[in-house]
Amino acid sequence: MNETNTLKNPYTAISNNKIEEIKTVAEKKRYRVAIYCRLSQEDRNKKNKEDESESIKNQKIMLTEYANSNEDWDIVGTFVDEDWAGMNQDRPNYNKVLELAERGEVDIVLCKSLNRFTRDSIVVEQYVLEKFKEWNVRFIGLVDNTDTALKGNRKSIQINGLTNQWYIEDMSDSIKSALDIKRNKGEYIGSVPLYGYLKDPNKKGHLIIDPVASKVVKQIFSLYNQGMGKTSIARELNNQGIPNPTEYKRQQGIAYKTPPNKLGTQWKYFSISDILGNEMYKGNMVQGKYGSVSFRTKKNKPRPKDKWFIVEGTHEAIIDIDLWNSVQSKRNNNYKPYKGGKIGVFAQKCKCEYCGYTMKSCKSHNDRYLRCPTRQVNKSDCIGSFISEERLKKTVLRELNLLIKQYLNVEQLEESIILKRVRSEKEQLQEEISQYEGNINKYSKALKDLFMQKVNGHITEEEFISLSTELRKDKETIEQQLIQKKDKLLELSNEQETIKSKKELLKQYINVTELSREMVDNLIEYIEVGQKDPKTHKKTIKIHWKI
Ligand SMILES: [Zn+2]
Repeated sequence: MNETNTLKNPYTAISNNKIEEIKTVAEKKRYRVAIYCRLSQEDRNKKNKEDESESIKNQKIMLTEYANSNEDWDIVGTFVDEDWAGMNQDRPNYNKVLELAERGEVDIVLCKSLNRFTRDSIVVEQYVLEKFKEWNVRFIGLVDNTDTALKGNRKSIQINGLTNQWYIEDMSDSIKSALDIKRNKGEYIGSVPLYGYLKDPNKKGHLIIDPVASKVVKQIFSLYNQGMGKTSIARELNNQGIPNPTEYKRQQGIAYKTPPNKLGTQWKYFSISDILGNEMYKGNMVQGKYGSVSFRTKKNKPRPKDKWFIVEGTHEAIIDIDLWNSVQSKRNNNYKPYKGGKIGVFAQKCKCEYCGYTMKSCKSHNDRYLRCPTRQVNKSDCIGSFISEERLKKTVLRELNLLIKQYLNVEQLEESIILKRVRSEKEQLQEEISQYEGNINKYSKALKDLFMQKVNGHITEEEFISLSTELRKDKETIEQQLIQKKDKLLELSNEQETIKSKKELLKQYINVTELSREMVDNLIEYIEVGQKDPKTHKKTIKIHWKI
């Protein structure tokens, strides 16, 4: 007999070797758990069959996960009654669970909440409190904290939390755990799909490719891969008259109404940057980057990456893996340092104008040069480019000073407009958020009042159920909207920070006389170097700025 069996059948174990086995049994008793799921009254309003089975599916997952998290529990069966309307005698699996309990074949009956198990209060009294106790079976309602094993719980079952907020907590916790379950399974729960995708009308939580926006995403990746900078890409898209994601979604009628001023509809450095690093485009579902710490504090904060919900291969990729990898390696440039560990000022930043390969550093006498690596390997493959580091430094520095002068003049104007827009959007959102929060409080209070009316006999059980179902639905909707508003607010705050830091970045380079690696890194995407023009004797140097 193997060990698991020994533990599962304590009585056989005792007869084998009394002292030792009794000890084991006492320490490691295992519990047989029956899981019971059914649709509740609130599911009655669900639109279609799919939504119904969704609710059952979520219950099953949640209860199974909970049972599995208890090491000494063994699930003996999952029992489901699909029909919410059935009276007790029409719920075959409900009766099966009761039979198992009576015959002593289960130790624990696990259910989402007491009202999932039975709505009839006399039945609650009779079975859950008396019979289960008599049969030595423990009843657990996961989200309403019903547990017959806890002392004093009889009373709390009877008054059903009327004096406190269990109902409200049940609601928010069930929403939260249901959402987390969806996220864990890689189902998209956002109300607005990520730019480049659409919600699949045939499958809830599934994303399909948006034929229009996905082309823009592809263009962004491929331009960047060809060596174009993020700002240049943004400029290129603006020149093509392509609206930015927010404006695009507004035009499609699937997102918030942003005041459509011109700047708000344009592509910016950070929108390109976000897209280039978003794993969603290679087919992975990434959710939960921001989240509330708890439902009570209502604070939405960025979450550490190990808390994100990442599920691979949930939807069709817009960017194939080769392009993705190539772009990511360009984003995290790996520099080869010189002997002695110093990184060259232009390392990985210069390209041969003719073959496009990254120019390599070499040393001649005491000067450093950059040269085309292709020509180095085979003279016939490229006519080659060559430049002294010192000369390139001087050129870049001169251009940088010119650029700063121009940029700060123009940009000061533009920035103040953007910042003003961001500020007013933020204010508006904050106002909306406090409105939503106020409404949620009203609903909570209304639910509580409804309870009191039920307790005092002013309304019937049926009225209570139908009214509270409605209230809960509305409240749920508002809570979802609130989460979206908070996400948007966070987005705006990040935007504000980006603008500010960009300005600071430029300011620190005013009147610099020496070019450093850090500056090149911060300011320059790459430089194209060509050959001397035989007529003008001038070398072509194209600097692709990040700003
Ligand atoms: Zn070359």
